[in-house]
Amino acid sequence: MKFNTKAIHSGQKSEETSGAVMPPIFQTSTYEQSAPNVHKGYDYARVGNPTRTALEKLIAGLEGADEAACFASGVAAMDALMKMFRPGDHIISSDDLYGGSYRLFTSIFEPYGIKFSFINMTDLELVRKTITPQTKMMWIETPTNPLLRVVDLKKLVEIAKENNILTIVDNTFASPYLQRPLEFGADAVLHSATKYLAGHSDVIHGAVATSNKEILENLRFQVKSTGAVPGPMDCYLTLRGIKTLAVRVQRSVENARKIADFLNSHPKVGQVLYPGLQSHPQHELAMNQMDDFGAMLSFTLKNDSIEAAVKFMSTTKVFTLAESLGGVESLISNPASMTHGSIPKELREKAGLSDSLIRISVGIEDVEDLIADLDQAF
Ligand SMILES: *Cc1c(COP(=O)(O)O)cnc(C)c1O
Repeated sequence: MKFNTKAIHSGQKSEETSGAVMPPIFQTSTYEQSAPNVHKGYDYARVGNPTRTALEKLIAGLEGADEAACFASGVAAMDALMKMFRPGDHIISSDDLYGGSYRLFTSIFEPYGIKFSFINMTDLELVRKTITPQTKMMWIETPTNPLLRVVDLKKLVEIAKENNILTIVDNTFASPYLQRPLEFGADAVLHSATKYLAGHSDVIHGAVATSNKEILENLRFQVKSTGAVPGPMDCYLTLRGIKTLAVRVQRSVENARKIADFLNSHPKVGQVLYPGLQSHPQHELAMNQMDDFGAMLSFTLKNDSIEAAVKFMSTTKVFTLAESLGGVESLISNPASMTHGSIPKELREKAGLSDSLIRISVGIEDVEDLIADLDQAF
């Protein structure tokens, strides 16, 4: 099956008792057993729920994984993955990653003795130099947030395998419609399904897709033991959202390309960061690694200050000033004062994250309206 078909049918079948085409919302905490431990595959809903199972099969299909495990949020899924590691283990990650990931790593896991290096992962020599005998995992985001750098999945996986290091890719920004990291040999993919997968800004949800048996067993055990599981209604909403993933992302990307061109020729804009622009340093790589360039883009103002960015954002009418991304509506944000506020200013600057940087998540509105809205805000 090709992608658009998979997004609708992967692992899905109509419900047995009624023939319902969509899986019911199985709102139950427990399941009848005909004798102790004899049941129809489910015993208690922390461990499993048929609505969740339908969603897990769909996400696994999209990423080309054997299985997926769903969680109550993206960070809950990351938290479960991180608990595979032990004090003294070292993890390499990028210096412009999702602010919440940085917070989870440094505020929760560092105090438990896990070591992190945050580096520019487009620099493969630097990646090699950062590896120590204790390095157990590379946490990869591509495109990165919010600088839209593209890191070379194939090469990073090669380096990781040579050194017996796991690679886990946060594929939230690209979505499986545009990029499937397991095809490049990555060990697992994480999603904040809150974003493109669910796609309607109405649910918080996380997932991990993998074919690695050890990771899977670990995740299933975590689901059962620590229980950060999504409710059946949230699973249903995410599953419903995924059915239109392909058409939503396709439209958003078309819009983003036009907006990037508009911004690129605007006199008040400093720099436009979008992998689809020929001037983007990893344009070629993005072309090879992704099916298209995505619908996230960032730009700086010539007047490079948080105040100028805040003023710009407060005058947009179609773009909503909000954190998050990947929904049908276009959102606008200033990472330095919002999502990346928890990253210290020196670190932000070192990573190239300017104060005026504005990040937009392009939705599926008419692009003429989006461009007119940005135009009047200037
Ligand atoms: C939002 C986000 C997360 C965290 O997901 P939640 O669903 O908000 O917990 C992780 N990674 C990236 C890239 C994100 O955008």
